[in-house]
Amino acid sequence: MQKRGNRAPSRRAVLKSTTGLTLSGAVAFLGGAARAVAGDGLTPVKLPPLLASSERESDKVPTPLPPEQRVGFAIVGLGHLALQQILPAFSESKLCRPVALVSGDGAKAANVAAQYGIAPKHVYDYQSYDRLAQDAAVSAVYVVLPNGLHAEYSIRAARAGKHVLCEKPMAISVNECERMIDASRAAHKKLMVAYRMQYEPYNREAIRMARAGELGKLKAFMASNGQAQGDPRQWRLRKALAGGGSLPDVGIYCLNAARYLSGEEPTEVSALVTSTPHDPRFVEVEEQVDFTLRFPSGFVASCTSSYGYHDSKCYRLMGTQGWLELDPAFPYAGQAMRIARKHAGSSGEDVETRKLEAKNQFALEMDHFAACIRDDKVPLTGGEEGLQDMRVIAAIYDSARRGHVVKLPRIEKVDALRGPALVDAAG
Ligand code: NAD
Repeated sequence: MQKRGNRAPSRRAVLKSTTGLTLSGAVAFLGGAARAVAGDGLTPVKLPPLLASSERESDKVPTPLPPEQRVGFAIVGLGHLALQQILPAFSESKLCRPVALVSGDGAKAANVAAQYGIAPKHVYDYQSYDRLAQDAAVSAVYVVLPNGLHAEYSIRAARAGKHVLCEKPMAISVNECERMIDASRAAHKKLMVAYRMQYEPYNREAIRMARAGELGKLKAFMASNGQAQGDPRQWRLRKALAGGGSLPDVGIYCLNAARYLSGEEPTEVSALVTSTPHDPRFVEVEEQVDFTLRFPSGFVASCTSSYGYHDSKCYRLMGTQGWLELDPAFPYAGQAMRIARKHAGSSGEDVETRKLEAKNQFALEMDHFAACIRDDKVPLTGGEEGLQDMRVIAAIYDSARRGHVVKLPRIEKVDALRGPALVDAAG
């Protein structure tokens, strides 16, 4: 669970305690969002510093939009992620609010709606889902269903005239991803894949360092994302609903990180798929995938995803001048960063631990999407980004099946499949 301690005071308290001191510029937040907030005539509040300049900066005062001006989201699927992470994250969002729910369980939906102040008329089931088209409170739909249902519910949402934020993996096939992109384009609505790591402060710092050349030329990347999966009856272990085993669920984080850290797209893939024989969890889907990706610059990523080993979610990025490590790298909170480089004044080496302010990754990602909707901007992690991961996943399975290297089309441009980079300090 996300740690919630040591948070800034509530928005209402913050606004009431305004001292009259204001920031001269817009509040530091995702670029588009900051402009949207400032454009709405809200005044960022600045509090006097409490600590000496030698100390770390304290939290910035948020500048949230009033509820009625926020982008209204319908949450589709009320399972673990929706109830434990996404709905609670709206309290830390500055631009979004939950206004509708979609669930097959009417009693659960009514209970959750009451908790979040959502009126019963905005609660839908999967049969009445298309009536979202007539619900003016809903601008965006957040699809949090099993992977095999992402395409259908994203396409229906686009046809209902809604913007779509879809959980990872985007879908379970390349064809489904392409149909989702087509549907959003045809409806002139935005589509974003919920790659929360690309909005998370430590991963953003790693991207910044890698791109700034602070590790020298990137040579290699090692990553693991694994956890021991339980009940063999769960949808994650059913091929039709999951699309695969550990690879599309957790291995996708390693794959996506290799791509966002380097900005490059792989040209060659080789892979091994392994499952413990007779384990009832791995009848339809795989347990472990070890895959290697070669990129145009010569950078090579070696990654492991697993449903069989104890929680291990880390990576190390190696360059000619140093390395950086995130361990853990991929959980909802608690990222830890180490950086190693030669010491400037001696023959020794410095290993630095870098600490950044923690942020709610789901609030950051949702606010980015809301800012793109409000400012008509291209999301950082749009449909093409999700489609590319699905193309590489298909190549990984293909390589494991055939037992040799599989080639992918060469893409020279850096960040070819992403929207414009986020412009300011994380969060
Ligand atoms: P979950 O099983 O807890 O929830 C899924 C919900 O879908 C349940 O409420 C279930 O009732 C509903 N559902 C509707 N139709 C269904 C059907 N035919 N079969 C099974 N369930 C059905 O799953 P979850 O962990 O919340 O994952 C949901 C999505 O979120 C997945 O795509 C997953 O990959 C993604 N996810 C992302 C992250 C992240 O960090 N971004 C973390 C966990 C899960």
